[in-house]
Amino acid sequence: MSQPNYSLESQIVIVTGGGRGIGLEIARAMKASGAFVVIAEADAIVGAESALELQGDFIATDVTSSSSVRAMVQAVAAKHGRIDCLVNNAGICRNTPSEDVSDDEWRLVMSIDLDGVFYGCREVAQIMLKQGFGTIINIGSMSGMISNRPQPQSAYNAAKAGVIHLTKSLAGEWASRGIRVNCISPGYIGTPMTKLGLETPEWRDTWLSSTPMGRLGEPTEVAAVAVFLASPASSFMTGSNVVVDGGYTSW
Ligand code: NDP
Repeated sequence: MSQPNYSLESQIVIVTGGGRGIGLEIARAMKASGAFVVIAEADAIVGAESALELQGDFIATDVTSSSSVRAMVQAVAAKHGRIDCLVNNAGICRNTPSEDVSDDEWRLVMSIDLDGVFYGCREVAQIMLKQGFGTIINIGSMSGMISNRPQPQSAYNAAKAGVIHLTKSLAGEWASRGIRVNCISPGYIGTPMTKLGLETPEWRDTWLSSTPMGRLGEPTEVAAVAVFLASPASSFMTGSNVVVDGGYTSW
């Protein structure tokens, strides 16, 4: 029997929002496993810096714009002749009591966290279905399975629930045509996104005491799962939602 293959040698991998936080660690881990990485990021400064560090490419991309996502995917395909993996990582969170959430804020969260993931999946599928292979990894959240406390964030939670179910829907549609679509749902991870919460004692105490492992996760602990899902070692996995939360959702 052959051994599992965890290598990403010669893979072309795109990471949206790869300029910082979890996305940057995923990009670093993909590179360390042999991939060429494209950082598809809104912020030109951090995006270019990350691409330089990883000897990859930076393509300015706003995931809320389907034409921006399409142009990015087409550029990668034109340069490399293939796309092996797309990681839909870009995301934002807003913590507003639901009764006060404006139309604009609701749309902003949905447009990045859910529309952006769909645009990425749809556009890369145009390439992957033709080539007959590819993996898509969507970054969901445990917030798509439970509602977080004590902070209010119903738009985020709803969008992430959508990401988990979108993953399953696309996995079923595309499995027979060579594309695997999986989701990673992190718990609380130490990144710029969680900085505000960690500085708020009530939030921090609730987050840590609700996590059986009693600590935040590291971005590298999410990145490790992304490498596995992009690699041939996970060849029988599609439509999965891999939870990386220190046990939060087990209580
Ligand atoms: P960060 O805020 O640190 O990073 C988010 C990244 O997304 C940034 O690089 C940001 O770019 C980018 N981004 C935002 N809007 C857009 C856009 N319109 N187009 C392209 N890129 C954009 O967050 P994390 O690293 O913590 O989060 C990464 C993912 O992990 C998100 O989907 C998040 O929801 C998810 N997640 C995070 C958890 C956590 O505890 N940190 C827990 C569960 C899930 P810019 O610099 O331009 O703003």
